[in-house]
Amino acid sequence: MANKNALQQWSIDDSAELYGIRNWGAGYFDITENGDVAIHPFGRGSNVAVSIPEVIRELKERGLELPVLLRIENILDSQISSLHNSFRDAISTLEYKGEYRGVFPIKVNQQQQVLEEIANFGSSFHHGFEVGSKAELIAAISQMRDHKACLVCNGYKDEEFIDLGLHAMRMGFNCIFVMEMGWELSTLLERAALLGVEPQIGVRVKLSAQGGGHWTASGGERSSFGLSMSQITDIIDTLKAQDKLHCLKLLHYHLGSQIPNIRSIRSAVQEASRVYAELVKEGAPMGYIDLGGGLAVDYDGSHTNYVSSRNYSVNEYAMDVVEAVMTTLDKQDIPHPHIITESGRAVVAYYSVLLFNILDVSKIEDGCVPEEIPEDTPEAIANMYEAYKSLTLRNLQEAYNDALFYRDEVRRMFLDGRVNLRQRTLADNLFWAITKAVAKLKDKLKIVPKELEEIDTALADIYYANFSVFQSLPDAWAIDQLFPLMPLHRLKEEPTRHAIISDITCDSDGKLDTFIDPKGEKPLLDLHPMKNGDEYYLGAFLVGAYQETLGDLHNLFGDTNVVSVRMYEDGSYEFVREIEGDTVGELLEYVEYDQRRIMEDLRSMAEQAVREGRITAAERYDLLQAFYAGLRGYTYFER
Ligand SMILES: *Cc1c(COP(=O)(O)O)cnc(C)c1O
Repeated sequence: MANKNALQQWSIDDSAELYGIRNWGAGYFDITENGDVAIHPFGRGSNVAVSIPEVIRELKERGLELPVLLRIENILDSQISSLHNSFRDAISTLEYKGEYRGVFPIKVNQQQQVLEEIANFGSSFHHGFEVGSKAELIAAISQMRDHKACLVCNGYKDEEFIDLGLHAMRMGFNCIFVMEMGWELSTLLERAALLGVEPQIGVRVKLSAQGGGHWTASGGERSSFGLSMSQITDIIDTLKAQDKLHCLKLLHYHLGSQIPNIRSIRSAVQEASRVYAELVKEGAPMGYIDLGGGLAVDYDGSHTNYVSSRNYSVNEYAMDVVEAVMTTLDKQDIPHPHIITESGRAVVAYYSVLLFNILDVSKIEDGCVPEEIPEDTPEAIANMYEAYKSLTLRNLQEAYNDALFYRDEVRRMFLDGRVNLRQRTLADNLFWAITKAVAKLKDKLKIVPKELEEIDTALADIYYANFSVFQSLPDAWAIDQLFPLMPLHRLKEEPTRHAIISDITCDSDGKLDTFIDPKGEKPLLDLHPMKNGDEYYLGAFLVGAYQETLGDLHNLFGDTNVVSVRMYEDGSYEFVREIEGDTVGELLEYVEYDQRRIMEDLRSMAEQAVREGRITAAERYDLLQAFYAGLRGYTYFER
């Protein structure tokens, strides 16, 4: 008997399977015995685990409210190590003669603490930066100390951008200017001559290979970036004519981000290696081949070539890349270059988790359906009642169609006054009663008709969440990217509700209604019923890449609180950095209000109200205090 019970009870393993945490978690996230989500900062091989609800308790004691973006520094370190270890293993297995040099593309996460950690921890691997603008270049220089690491300058470069890079070279930085447009070269050569610096030059090539992910348009011949073969030939000729061919050091391409299929990656590397070989044959010294970004993250844990996944591991990526470069170049006896990749997403995605609480739930209520209906009930409603009473497995579809038909009819009658409030209420209750009964019965059908499949979504709960999709998960809104989402506790309990998530903005697009699923995607997320008065916490995972600065200020919800933790082998941890989110006042300043002016205006309005006898002077004081506190408060819902 005990055995049977044990079998029937919902367990943390059931939760792990339902939410896929062991598939997408990459060993960094799992569930504790008591049903909390835990961080495993040292990955699979280690027992160290820190409960996230425990971290939330600690944050609250320190006065930090949710939503909070939690950054786990160890995970960033570990992702950098694992990338370098994969390449190191591939290089030694294949006896490749060049080295691996990673650079972090700053646009993926520009936050100062991210760059600082990458510069510090990455220096033992000579991990550098890739920049695409003047601001990013200055940010990189401010954090970089390692002169062996590469500083790759992409993007459109004006004179000022070029001068900054040349000054960086003078200071000893290993700065490489990648030509993206034909006209950049003459500016570079002029400024370099003027400053007396010998520049290191790269060329960005447009390949014919395509990436096949969300961002396919940024690679391929139709890409808006990069040089055609004929433009590259022009550059070689210009360099030769000015006796500067010895400055040409690097070939670069970028297929696009989140490339799900290893075959696309391999064919691009082969094509680029051929171009590299030709540049060497033209007499350029070269030395670096830079494959750009594209190393994908398995957001849904399916390990497939679906857009939110990838059909390869980091080890396989490194092996394939090194092997493709080597076999292409060996055929022509070209020396092996250092291999640069500009992996951004794969380095930072895992390291941030968005923690938020649920504010309220909207459910379709079980309205009461009476034993008998009043005599004067309009026929349309009486027909609905009939459909409800006679519902069976056989007439499901028909009953549902009737319910829809008469509901619309009753709405029309209500508009022109033929149905009163109580009759309308009865009709609404009947409609939901029929829909719920149909939803329950339909699972017994062998084949569920298409129309009935949507019923579950119509009946879903709406969980109102304390965060803004536009601010914190912009890619979920803009390009339908999926992020793993799950409750952070109560995972020993079966989640019996089916829900979509609505955010705190008043925008109907501010919602999440597609979720990861091992069998593809699903429209509803399984959640636990709210318990009176208890907080219910959810986490959005793998949000470290691209989400932080693409976010906007929709409805004037600002940056969330951000907390960085560092964890230790004994399971202890410390909050190494906390950055308070935007205040209401700061947000208003972004949109050109002046906080002081607002307070001045309020003071005189309130004074006027005192003079007119509408409030007392003491009430004026309270009012001004409230507004003052309001301006200094968090933009999100505070309990
Ligand atoms: C965006 C970008 C990257 C980063 O790509 P990931 O797929 O995030 O690794 C790298 N290089 C260039 C030129 C980019 O534009």
